[in-house]
Amino acid sequence: MFDLAQFPLPYETNALAPYISQETLETHHGKHVATYINNLNNLIENTPYENVSLVQIIQESANTPKDKKIFNNAAQVFNHNFFFNGMCKDCTAKIPDEIIEKFGSTENFKKQFKDAATSLFGSGYTWLVRDGDELKIINTNNADTPIAYNMVPILNLDVWEHAYYLDYKNKRADFVDSFLDKLVNWDFVSENLKQ
Ligand code: MN
Repeated sequence: MFDLAQFPLPYETNALAPYISQETLETHHGKHVATYINNLNNLIENTPYENVSLVQIIQESANTPKDKKIFNNAAQVFNHNFFFNGMCKDCTAKIPDEIIEKFGSTENFKKQFKDAATSLFGSGYTWLVRDGDELKIINTNNADTPIAYNMVPILNLDVWEHAYYLDYKNKRADFVDSFLDKLVNWDFVSENLKQ
């Protein structure tokens, strides 16, 4: 059984304002993530998923069509925890050299990430992942997650409307700019690149 306290925000709910408001973070973490955890607990009770790790639940249910609801809720818990940990208040770390080398420049990386995030139709996430030896930017739809495909997540951005609509209304591109320019925790990214 899982608990929201196992997936805390690494900052106060007002820490990311004005780029992400306190109201958005309170709703996004305190309501949306809490609901995914509650749903997951109800779905796995008295099943073989009850006593395994979140990542194991995701990887096993990903290949089991009848467990799609379990997959969706477990993946949403993982994806959100990863997203919230990928941001910081008053961030000072620099973008890692490996990303600049791969994409040519900081600007090129941001442009490619933004192009992906603004072109994702509907709900989902934009990710920087390591797939084999290659760093790449991908989109996933709905709850889908790269850890279901043996890719290593490096950074993600939630582009479900609930992530930005209170603060940016329909302007997803402005939300993506705030994320890339003001919110990314490059220390978290650097740690993930070492895996
Ligand atoms: Mn979300």
